[in-house]
Amino acid sequence: MSLNSPTGFFSTKITDALNWARKFSIFQYPFVTACCGMEYMSTAASHYDVDRFGAGFPRFSPRQSDVLFVVGTINHKMAPVLKSVYDQMCEPKWVVAFGVCTCTGGFYDNYSTVQGIDTIIPVDIYIPGCPPRPENVLDGLMKLQDKIQKGEQSRTLYDPNAKTGRPAELQKYTITQHIKNIES
Ligand code: SF4
Repeated sequence: MSLNSPTGFFSTKITDALNWARKFSIFQYPFVTACCGMEYMSTAASHYDVDRFGAGFPRFSPRQSDVLFVVGTINHKMAPVLKSVYDQMCEPKWVVAFGVCTCTGGFYDNYSTVQGIDTIIPVDIYIPGCPPRPENVLDGLMKLQDKIQKGEQSRTLYDPNAKTGRPAELQKYTITQHIKNIES
């Protein structure tokens, strides 16, 4: 007997239930390269406790992970490795850019640094800051859970010429902006 009704009621409910389960069983792959890693670990520790969100279990194989946490500066030499890790993850999958270096290159506006990982792989959640506070990370995690529940995934890369594929506020997130935010 098919569970599908002419209105798609049953398949919609099953998808909702699956997405609900997915958002509380995040298997994250931590791709950690630099100083943001300290704050990443602090968020995972008992005080902030990401286990409350079902995201406390890192996997170190991309094939067993569904959320790629990119934490720290990515240089051009490292970029093919990051892309390869992303490509090995099974669908559905999501990407979190942790720290302003991963979001836009941050203040490493130089020849060796990737100016935002969204030029290489699609990013679902941007968590800027240098490094972001654990509260920001938890906020990003909850936004990710909303996305997972809605069945949404990012599929677009950032186009620097058209300025599409990245939140508008992040395109202005330069070192000057960062200093201004710290001072305010
Ligand atoms: S955003 Fe700041 S803390 Fe994070 S990797 Fe870059 S320089 Fe380090």
